[in-house]
Amino acid sequence: MQWLGRRESGNVDDRRGMSGGQIATGGGVIGVIFLIAQFLLGGGDMGDLSQIIPPGGGMQTEMTAEQKAKEEERAGFVKVVLADTEDVWDKLFREQGRQYQTPTLVLFRGYTTSACGSASSASGPFYCPADNDVYIDLSFAEDLENRFGAPGQFALAYVVAHEVGHHVQFLEGTSAKVQQLRQRVSEGEYNKASVMLELQADFYAGVWAHHNQKMKNVMQEKDIAEALNAANAIGDDRLQKQSQGHVTPDAFTHGTSAQRMYWFKKGWDTGDLSQGNTFASAR
Ligand SMILES: [Zn+2]
Repeated sequence: MQWLGRRESGNVDDRRGMSGGQIATGGGVIGVIFLIAQFLLGGGDMGDLSQIIPPGGGMQTEMTAEQKAKEEERAGFVKVVLADTEDVWDKLFREQGRQYQTPTLVLFRGYTTSACGSASSASGPFYCPADNDVYIDLSFAEDLENRFGAPGQFALAYVVAHEVGHHVQFLEGTSAKVQQLRQRVSEGEYNKASVMLELQADFYAGVWAHHNQKMKNVMQEKDIAEALNAANAIGDDRLQKQSQGHVTPDAFTHGTSAQRMYWFKKGWDTGDLSQGNTFASAR
């Protein structure tokens, strides 16, 4: 995606400097925080990454100049992606006679706190509905590339757009409905509903990409391939196979690789919000 020189969102809470670029590694306190975050967030957001990224994984003691430069570039990129999501969702909401309220993107390094509890880089990026913030440790981009085999800048754009998709679900009241189900249905049924919620966030990421291209003509050929490759890489079945050697469908939290790719692609192809009812679909 062409992004250099384009508008960066101002809705960014950059906490990366708070630890002075230096973080303790290993278990101890961070391990405990990590477990709490896992409990509160239901196992990270992009998929059950906890078994792939060990606690303390993705944390650096001191960044080299080269790493710092790379991270600055990523920070600039995600700020442009966030600005693009603001423009697209603002337009799509206005078309429905509604007003889009923007989320804040929190950039952190190592660990941070949110209204949903503490989080470490090991839990992966997530959206907290209690404070409407999207949290991301940019070292996740390294994980995408090195651990999950999903390189490319647009893989990161897909991740940000997926989290913003959860924000849209919050505004639409969909996430609250799924939460309410928790008390009424079996764990298996609830689990299925939360998978549908995740797939819809993938669909919304695709819808965003569709309209971003339509409005700004900034996308490149390889972008969608990179996003689909990332969706494929973090499907539950793929992650389970990697971590435990076999697949346990009952424990899915985000959907299979095929489902995640299907819904992102459907959003990208149609750009049509009315086609994103993952809850009513057999896919
Ligand atoms: Zn998600």
